[in-house]
Amino acid sequence: MTESVERVKELEQEAGRACGIGKLLHFDYDKVELANMNRLFFQPHQAALSKVEAAEHTLRNIDPDVAFEVHSYNITTVVEHFEHLMSRISNGGLQDGKPVDLALSCVDNFDARMAISTACNELGQRWMESGVSENAVSGHTQLMIPGESACFACAPPLVVAANIDEKTPKREGVCSARLPTAMGVVAGILVQNVLKFLLNFGVVSFYLEYNATQDFFPTMSMMPNPQCDDRNCREQQEE
Ligand SMILES: [Zn+2]
Repeated sequence: MTESVERVKELEQEAGRACGIGKLLHFDYDKVELANMNRLFFQPHQAALSKVEAAEHTLRNIDPDVAFEVHSYNITTVVEHFEHLMSRISNGGLQDGKPVDLALSCVDNFDARMAISTACNELGQRWMESGVSENAVSGHTQLMIPGESACFACAPPLVVAANIDEKTPKREGVCSARLPTAMGVVAGILVQNVLKFLLNFGVVSFYLEYNATQDFFPTMSMMPNPQCDDRNCREQQEE
C-alpha cells in the first residue's frame, strides 16, 4: 500500500517536471458561471467561485509541485491593478524579484489585449497572444517580442480586428462560442508554442491562424510598425 502511494507521488512529480513549468501567475476578474461549462475546464460545483480560485484548485490537484499565484481583478479598469500586473510581470518569476519568462494573453476583449500589450512593451516582456473568433470557427496565436515583432498596437490579429461584435454587451448567462473544440485546438497550439519557445526547439510561428472549417493553418511573420501608436514599442524598435 505504502509503496504504491509512493509510486503515485513519484509519477506525479515526474508529470510535474515533464513540462518544466515551475510557476503560473493567473489574472482574471471573472466568476465561474454555469454557461462556461461547455468550453472551459471548470466544473458545475465551482460556479460562483472566482475563475482564478477555481483554476488554482483544479491545477493544484493535477500538479502540487507547481507554484501558483492568482489575482482576481480587472487589469483594464483600475490603474492600481494595471500597475500591480506590471510589477508581478517584472518581479513574479520563479525566482522572486526576477521577471516571468513569458506572458500569455488568453482574453476575450480588445481592451484587455491592449492592456497586456502596453505593459509588455513598457517592460520589454516577451508575450504570446491567443484568441478564438466570436463564431468559434477560427482562431490565432501570435508571438510578440518587443522591438522585434509586431506588437498588438502595431497590427491587431485579423480575427480580432474584424470582430465587430466584441465590444457589444454579451447576453447574461449566454455563451456565444458553441465550438469548445476550436478553443481546445487553439489552446493546444498556444501551449505547444510556449514549450517550443521556452525550451528552445522547433520553429515558433510569429502569427499562426487556425481556420476550423477548412483545416487551414496559415502562418506569417509581422515586423513592428515604425509608426506604432505605442511609444514604448517604437523605443524598443530603436534599441
Ligand atoms: Zn507596436
